[in-house]
Amino acid sequence: MTEALFRDDSYLQTCQARVTGVNERGGILLDRSIFFATGGGQPGDTGMIERPDGSSIAIGATVFGESKEQIVHVPAAEGPLPDVGETIVATIDWHRRYRHMRMHTALHIICAAMRTKITGAQIGEEESRIDLNMQDPPDRDAVLAAIMEAVNADHPVTTEWITDAQLDANPDLIKSMSVSPPRGSGLVRLVRIGANFDLQPCGGTHVRTTSEIGQVTITKIEKKGRLNRRIRIRLDD
Ligand SMILES: [Zn+2]
Repeated sequence: MTEALFRDDSYLQTCQARVTGVNERGGILLDRSIFFATGGGQPGDTGMIERPDGSSIAIGATVFGESKEQIVHVPAAEGPLPDVGETIVATIDWHRRYRHMRMHTALHIICAAMRTKITGAQIGEEESRIDLNMQDPPDRDAVLAAIMEAVNADHPVTTEWITDAQLDANPDLIKSMSVSPPRGSGLVRLVRIGANFDLQPCGGTHVRTTSEIGQVTITKIEKKGRLNRRIRIRLDD
């Protein structure tokens, strides 16, 4: 099991950790990590692991292992692997991750502003997309105005935890038709934007306040099936 430090503080860029194993495919397991593992449409982190002897291992991908309690750090290339028990320093590619956090939070805003369910999402460093369950094409200017109103409102983004039973009693909290809530431990993490602008189960990483998203551009609105509209966005900086 890996202690997922990014769940409580998504702004950690580096941490010390102990190597607890190396799996059969060369993936590195740590007792704690700031590396987000691919899930919910958000790519896993890339970065670096520095060994006590001064050498370093570039990490090209981060994924879940046998369960969602285990985070696997996949080296970008073949090479020497750390020893079990070794204390290393892990550092993420912060420029890339911070863009993922801004994009991810922007997608929450679009979903909340459009007041509809999500049928898919893919976050990227350069461009992200969200698929919404909508019959009529949304007006581009109206969508952008709604996004920027929420960005400029500087809403705080906070997390809270509820039990699986509480989520079962409030199924309307689930906004995604494609990604199931991060269950497993008996508790589900909710992400709240503003007092009540958006509230939904999510295991991803987000910015602390919506103003950090900055200016957004809608690059495309596409029809993807009779009941599906895809909105593509970019960050202006
Ligand atoms: Zn989220």
